[in-house]
Amino acid sequence: MVEHHSEAESGAASGANRASYLTLAESGVLAERVARAWQHLEDCDLCARYCHVDRRQSIRGAVCRTGERAVVHSSGPHHGEENPLRGSRGSGTIFFSWCNLRCVYCQNWDINQKGHGRECEPDELAAMMLALQAQGCHNINFVSPSHVVAQIIAAVAIAARDGLVLPLVYNTGGYDSLEALRLLDGIIDIYMPDMKYGDTKKAHRYSHVRNYVEMNHIAVKEMHRQVGDLVLDDHGIAQRGLLVRHLVLPENVADTNRVLEFLATQISPHTYLNLMDQYHPCYRADENPPLDRTIRSSEYSQALRWAQELGLDRLDQRHSRF
Ligand code: SF4
Repeated sequence: MVEHHSEAESGAASGANRASYLTLAESGVLAERVARAWQHLEDCDLCARYCHVDRRQSIRGAVCRTGERAVVHSSGPHHGEENPLRGSRGSGTIFFSWCNLRCVYCQNWDINQKGHGRECEPDELAAMMLALQAQGCHNINFVSPSHVVAQIIAAVAIAARDGLVLPLVYNTGGYDSLEALRLLDGIIDIYMPDMKYGDTKKAHRYSHVRNYVEMNHIAVKEMHRQVGDLVLDDHGIAQRGLLVRHLVLPENVADTNRVLEFLATQISPHTYLNLMDQYHPCYRADENPPLDRTIRSSEYSQALRWAQELGLDRLDQRHSRF
């Protein structure tokens, strides 16, 4: 595969483990990104829903129900993430409320579908990041960030000015627009997308989105183009790169084999992959069999075999309960 290099990589290369957004902040590019991102809010194309509404005026027509201010549910050190993110001191998570997907089995439905949380200005978001850094977290982990890209960029600019140096993790459901990802180029160090489905019709049925697979593939390719395969430091902590999550679903509803084939052939066989086995029925899963049960050990074993047969050689199996 031909390697492309984003403007971020020169920054990352200039200092060991240096977060890439610091270079953009010093050169003034980050301030320009804030202005550009804010313009996108007025005709919103900041995720793959492409609602084209003016979120500075109203949330009417916005699938994410989020206006000019991000809504934050909670923030704090998280010790349940993958080892390269949590390390010994935790990943500094900021959970955003609302979502651009409508998964019937949403595992965080009180946050993502009900919108529990508090509206925050960018300086408040920046203060959260600096507090997480002061607590010793290894990174800042934006959870469900796709619909608040503009607000995140504005907050990062403030936090970088005030001393933030940690790598930034973009922890997304994977339904991101190219417009948003280009705004984030050189700002995000670690992309952590879900790849939820390999079949468009099932994505529509279970997450109420018509073109998930196509947009997810485009997004993951762009993420990998920007940051490459996951790079760890000497202590096994992630510094930069792509980390993919895939949740195995009952009766192969997720078409895991197709997702893994895309990763192995179109992205990289060295993609760091968390093949998750912890699916449990939540929200409206009971109304949508076979999602009304957990997965069987045979289903997870089959998923593992597919990954191994395809040559995917960086599997994170820490979560495996089988
Ligand atoms: S972020 Fe996505 S869901 Fe929200 S208004 Fe913009 S395009 Fe629509």
